[in-house]
Amino acid sequence: ASVFEDIKAAPADVIFALTASYAADTYDKKVNLGVGAYRTEEGKPWVLPVVKKADHILVDDNNLDHEYLPILGQKAFREASAKLILGANSKALAEGRVGAAQCISGTGAVYTGAHFLSKHYPIKGAACYISKPTWANHRAIFEGVGIPVLEYPYWDPATKGLDLKGMLGAMQSAANGSIFLLHPCAHNPTGVDPTPDQWRQIADVMEAKGHFTFFDCAYQGFASGSLDKDAYSVRYFVERGFELFVAQSFSKNFGLYSERAGNLTVVAKTPEIKNRIESQIAKAQRAVISNPPAYGSRIVSTVLTNEKLYKEWEQNLSTMANRIIHMRKALFDELTRLQTPGKWNHIVDQIGMFSFTGLTTPQVKVLKEKYHVYLTDNGRISMAGLNSKNVKYFAQAVDYVVR
Ligand code: PMP
Repeated sequence: ASVFEDIKAAPADVIFALTASYAADTYDKKVNLGVGAYRTEEGKPWVLPVVKKADHILVDDNNLDHEYLPILGQKAFREASAKLILGANSKALAEGRVGAAQCISGTGAVYTGAHFLSKHYPIKGAACYISKPTWANHRAIFEGVGIPVLEYPYWDPATKGLDLKGMLGAMQSAANGSIFLLHPCAHNPTGVDPTPDQWRQIADVMEAKGHFTFFDCAYQGFASGSLDKDAYSVRYFVERGFELFVAQSFSKNFGLYSERAGNLTVVAKTPEIKNRIESQIAKAQRAVISNPPAYGSRIVSTVLTNEKLYKEWEQNLSTMANRIIHMRKALFDELTRLQTPGKWNHIVDQIGMFSFTGLTTPQVKVLKEKYHVYLTDNGRISMAGLNSKNVKYFAQAVDYVVR
């Protein structure tokens, strides 16, 4: 008999399962709006031109080898990542109280921060509050390291916008010193972000209650097309003196999905505390991955530390952000033209890769079965999956299911 005779099968990951069903579908008009990966107008993955240039630079660099990186990763990458999110003029950076750890992309950065908090957060049993809804992995990661997970309201189905009152209320009634996981921009899955004034109100409560801020930043530059604009909330919190973590992913904004390039930026009160935090993260990282992979981080640091390539990257980002904004408009126009029942302005108001359409699970089922359109059951669509060839088809399908 097997040692594992009694093992139970785990459910498949919803997003990856959706991609597999799409791939197995032979219908020629099939549409994949599931996975959060950028697609071109032709529906193809896009290797950013600036990434190709960095590739060539790396290939031609005779000094590169395949030695281990340090445990916390490549120094140039860590520094450039922290600078990217905090801004070159960040006071916290100048004061030497910003740490960084190269991680296995955004997922690894969230995990690394969560794992650190599970060991070292001073309030034992403190819960981590995640937005309702959020990226499914947030719950899995925090529960995985033994931190209790609770939710704060975020999405208001009535306005298809932010439930600020609910969010602030949950922050008020949470035990002092709770951990709050916040999306700095391009909230996944809703595409709804707080305004600067709303961020001020959120920061007021976070401060008054002594909550700990953990930003998960997977879409810097991808949301608005501007790296600075998308970093607004993080920089604002840092200016106000918060100690905080920021998990950064370079999957989307560099199109480096499989290279697993990510960083955990740590803003501490003093350089001394920052050093101690980094040392504990290094100790933990050693036991999990030993040291991070080099390639993706080399691409990123090559671009971030070269003025010309950086400018080109900004253009590549605009290309992606603008195509998505254009598709929002195209979808909205088409639904308006078809006089599809309901209000659809949220399609253009929401930001970033995703739109939370308001389509229900039964409607999503019909979309899949009748139209071969793949999206998650919560009605979230990846705007990047739309293009000028399939947007009309998708709008017609939506029109059919909502009538
Ligand atoms: N956080 C959020 C909110 C995300 O949407 C994603 C990507 N889906 C990630 C983190 C991490 O992605 P990755 O591990 O590929 O960087």
